[in-house]
Amino acid sequence: PGRATRVRELIADVPDFPSPGILFKDITPLLADAEGLADVVEAFTRLVPAGGVDLVAGMEARGFLFGAPVAHALGVGFLPLRKAGKLPPPTSSVSYDLEYGSASIELRAGTLDPGARVLIIDDVLATGGTAAAAAELVEQCGGVVAGLAFLLELEALHGRDRLTGRNVDTLLRVS
Ligand code: 5GP
Repeated sequence: PGRATRVRELIADVPDFPSPGILFKDITPLLADAEGLADVVEAFTRLVPAGGVDLVAGMEARGFLFGAPVAHALGVGFLPLRKAGKLPPPTSSVSYDLEYGSASIELRAGTLDPGARVLIIDDVLATGGTAAAAAELVEQCGGVVAGLAFLLELEALHGRDRLTGRNVDTLLRVS
């Protein structure tokens, strides 16, 4: 089978996790597979927008797993976008709505030069709320969102609608 098929087969469907009615896409088997992990990292490096990027940003926590190796492969630095309360001050923060309640993500102030072109990476694009907040946070800190790249897009949740006008790429899609 081709590379995309092999990678797809390494993502497990877990029904009713983390709550009833949710079909969770588990990337743990993919991470454990040397060839699968290398294929995905390499595929991400080919999604770099024209003009290149100065930094890769990864969304906690699964965005770290791909973002850091992609940054390394591209020869640029890595920015962790973290859940609230994990980074020492000073931080910049953006809040976003969850199904129940809200959450914030934070970036360490001073890690981003004004005008730096940033590629944001995460594992899954679902409703797009997390990614929209990540893009807003990078811009709030003076960066330019060169693009957003995801391993897997859950098309039924229409996350792209939250990212209109942005450069969005996904390696795999499920309807
Ligand atoms: P969104 O904000 O787009 O609804 O959700 C995306 C965020 O939730 C990402 O950070 C992603 O890691 C996580 N996420 C949502 N659904 C899934 C899923 O089925 N599998 C995995 N691995 N992560 C998910």
